[in-house]
Amino acid sequence: MEQKFDVIVIGSGPGGYVCAIKCAQLGLKTACIEKWVDDKKNTKLGGTCLNVGCIPSKALLESSHKFYDAQKHFSRHGIMSKGLSLDISAMMQRKNSVVSQLTSGITGLFKANGVTSIAGTARLLADKQVEVTTHDNKTTLLSATNVVLATGSVPIDIPPTPLQDDIIVNSTGALEFNNVPEKVGVIGAGVIGLELGSVWCRLGSKVTVFEALDSFLPMVDQQIAKETLKIFTKQGLDIKLSTKVTGSTVKKKKVHLEYQDSSGKLQKEVFDKLIVAVGRKPFTGNVLDASCGITTDDRGFIAVNDKCETKVANVYAIGDVVRGPMLAHKASEEGIMVAELICNQKPEMNYDLIPSVVYTHPEVAWVGMNEQQAKAKGIDYKVGVFPFAACGRALAADDSEGMIKVIADSNTDRIIGVHCVGPSAAELVQQGVIGMEFVASAEDIALTIFAHPTLSEALHEAALAVNGGAIHTINRKKK
Ligand code: FAD
Ligand code: NAD
Repeated sequence: MEQKFDVIVIGSGPGGYVCAIKCAQLGLKTACIEKWVDDKKNTKLGGTCLNVGCIPSKALLESSHKFYDAQKHFSRHGIMSKGLSLDISAMMQRKNSVVSQLTSGITGLFKANGVTSIAGTARLLADKQVEVTTHDNKTTLLSATNVVLATGSVPIDIPPTPLQDDIIVNSTGALEFNNVPEKVGVIGAGVIGLELGSVWCRLGSKVTVFEALDSFLPMVDQQIAKETLKIFTKQGLDIKLSTKVTGSTVKKKKVHLEYQDSSGKLQKEVFDKLIVAVGRKPFTGNVLDASCGITTDDRGFIAVNDKCETKVANVYAIGDVVRGPMLAHKASEEGIMVAELICNQKPEMNYDLIPSVVYTHPEVAWVGMNEQQAKAKGIDYKVGVFPFAACGRALAADDSEGMIKVIADSNTDRIIGVHCVGPSAAELVQQGVIGMEFVASAEDIALTIFAHPTLSEALHEAALAVNGGAIHTINRKKK
């Protein structure tokens, strides 16, 4: 007999697994179907984020930062690191064990919360029936009152640089090099290009990043982006803007890359590895049967409203497969929202306050509106900026590059954006997110007592600076 659930979630990434757990916690009979398997055909939960995304990349960013710090900065503290060496296979093993710990953690959470975990590839049919094909090609039919599509995204390929073995790779391949390549090319100066480019640069590769656009990090506040470019260039990343990659050939395990530089001149360069990081696209491969009534738009996204409802009643879609930033925390929050909706609660998700982070060192993080957006919207705003060079804790930590910036509405003093490049930028901007959720004004933050000495004091000073009251820096002149 066909098995019936209250909710079937398709995909166990941070969107799907969080949604499934929340549904079960709210008392719904829930199943989560996942197709991802390891070499031994064991199901791997956690999606892109845990297996080949957020977690393994952050594990390598931490390891490579420790190596770089030991090599470049320890001596300033009187710690001599002569004879320092690298065991790349130990580094990769540590990364893999962090991944295993977290993915098996989801198996445990599913059990503890009573989510039925189903291995196989799901296909949505009419009337919320779901066909599951197991890895040994057996098919079963399930049905549900509600279905949540959380099938995620995959990397975009471009014709001039087709992937080849472990030489021309996407982000997944770039997490697995088994030695430090002498020369690495990266196509795309976006989040992945900068994070993974930094990993290999810190470990000793000469890294060149090719970016098609003429501006660096256009989605970031341009004062912050300019400072970031300066810092990354000093770290050794060679970032070439306005470049057009035109072709590549692999000869004797090396990539011969052809590109047009910013002056239009054709150039050639040889790399040991090439990382293609030009964005990701939604994934719905084979999951939507024609009978299910759901189609994708011309970019491959499943159309949903702000409650993640598709055009078919009781079928929802969340995470990378729908509009909005492709971020794990956005996927998870949508998962929780949908679980609560299914239970007739009235959840709301504030899409204006989704924080973004580039986990380089220093980190780049932001939330809300940047200066260029405020200007474009004709908002009368004021700005407070505080450099980490004037922050006692940052100096004590020998980590004082960058700045934090608070933007507030001139009429109401309400904070409309927080932007940062600097130590622990992600954690500092998160304080801005909390403040903004509670509709804080710059004065509210200014009147708050911050412990000394902390990096958080930089946020305090930036908020003070909004109204010309910073103590440890010269305040910006009023416009
Ligand atoms: P996914 O995580 O992609 O999960 C979708 C799941 O659905 C997969 O497991 C897939 O196998 C399964 N699936 C698909 N089709 C079917 C089917 N028919 N049947 C059964 N199962 C199916 N985001 C951040 O917020 N912070 C970061 O630091 C960060 N770092 C990243 C680093 C890298 C290198 C990459 C590539 C991404 C990173 N991201 C980061 C983005 C983040 O990984 C995604 O936004 C997030 O994983 C999206 O979650 P999701 O649940 O929508 O989809
Ligand atoms: P991205 O959109 O961040 O950056 C891609 C970059 O490649 C852009 O700057 C784009 O202009 C450039 N580009 C596109 N085509 C090009 C070409 N032909 N030649 C040269 N440059 C080209 O995408 P990504 O870095 O691949 O990351 C994909 C997604 O994964 C992002 O949307 C991001 O949300 C998510 N992600 C997030 C994090 C994080 O939160 N820290 C980390 C990694 C990935």
